[in-house]
Amino acid sequence: MAENGAFWLYDLKVETVLDGRTPVCRHVEGESFRVEGENLVFEVGTRISMYALAAVLPLLPAKQRDTSPHDWMSTDAEVACPDPHCGGRLRITRLEKRHFTHAETTGLPEARDTPYWQKQEPST
Ligand SMILES: [Zn+2]
Repeated sequence: MAENGAFWLYDLKVETVLDGRTPVCRHVEGESFRVEGENLVFEVGTRISMYALAAVLPLLPAKQRDTSPHDWMSTDAEVACPDPHCGGRLRITRLEKRHFTHAETTGLPEARDTPYWQKQEPST
């Protein structure tokens, strides 16, 4: 653990891409949301299929962290909609890194400090 308990996670952009494929579900090319720490951040009016969201959610925590350049998690960025007839995909892009500390994020009572979300203003 770093001296002050600090660690960094990438913010992510998750964007709908079709690249000429035909969607079955409501996939609108270019619609996106961000991942900031544990939070999914949507602009007003942005919508996403819950089935496509369910497919991408398990990969997001790994994408937030540094991975080996040889790891497929580093190189592969698109997740297909789980409907086998649907052409919708979600592309995950790493953005800037965001600072956290262990004490602000852990659930361990003996290590817990004020949660990060009570220390800072939410980013926009
Ligand atoms: Zn779909």
